[in-house]
Amino acid sequence: MKSRLLACFLLLAPMLATAEAPFSLPPLPYAANALEPWIDAETMNIHHGRHHKAYVDNLNAQVANFPELAGMSLEAMQAAMSKFNVAVRNNGGGHYNHDLFWQVMAPAGKGGEPSAALTAAIERRFGSLEAMKTEMNRAAAGQFGSGWAWLIVGADGELAITATANQDNPLMDVVPVRGAPVLGVDVWEHAYYLKYQNRRGAYLDAWWNVVNWAEVSRRYETATAGLKAAKAR
Ligand code: MN
Repeated sequence: MKSRLLACFLLLAPMLATAEAPFSLPPLPYAANALEPWIDAETMNIHHGRHHKAYVDNLNAQVANFPELAGMSLEAMQAAMSKFNVAVRNNGGGHYNHDLFWQVMAPAGKGGEPSAALTAAIERRFGSLEAMKTEMNRAAAGQFGSGWAWLIVGADGELAITATANQDNPLMDVVPVRGAPVLGVDVWEHAYYLKYQNRRGAYLDAWWNVVNWAEVSRRYETATAGLKAAKAR
């Protein structure tokens, strides 16, 4: 009898776990030390294993309050953020933002170059890649306290730069400047303090060495294709 109960439990446990915890911490797409010397392994381990994990755990805890979260994509959740509470905003935002952040970085020397389409869009909007970096650095350095700076595709299909506080992002229906994020940089102190202390500018300069341009280009092309398809409808 006992063993039958145990077998039953073992069979059901994974399903219960899935039902209770629909969100999970994605593994880093590279080793924790892969971004050195620009971003150190200890920062990456703490940032991913503790900070990002806490956002995932705290978001899972909110499914009890908002069962509909369990069936939502992270993108759909951001766009519907006004329906939820501040814990979902902070932790659902935190999960989306960090999931993006790990993907838009690549080991030093492996980040490639922006695609032809992204290069053309950057030159159209900012004049040059260097000018775009300068504007994004300015937004990132100017974000008071914790937050993010973003390169987005706006509703007009053109690139723009914006910054958000806390774990907000441009997909949320509660922020003033909305768009599809193609690149984001975390300027919370937890992202850089161990190596750079208060020198946010030095962290930002270093960070451009690990941008994954293939992934940023892919996101740009997905965002503009989505806008074209929406216009055609
Ligand atoms: Mn962070």
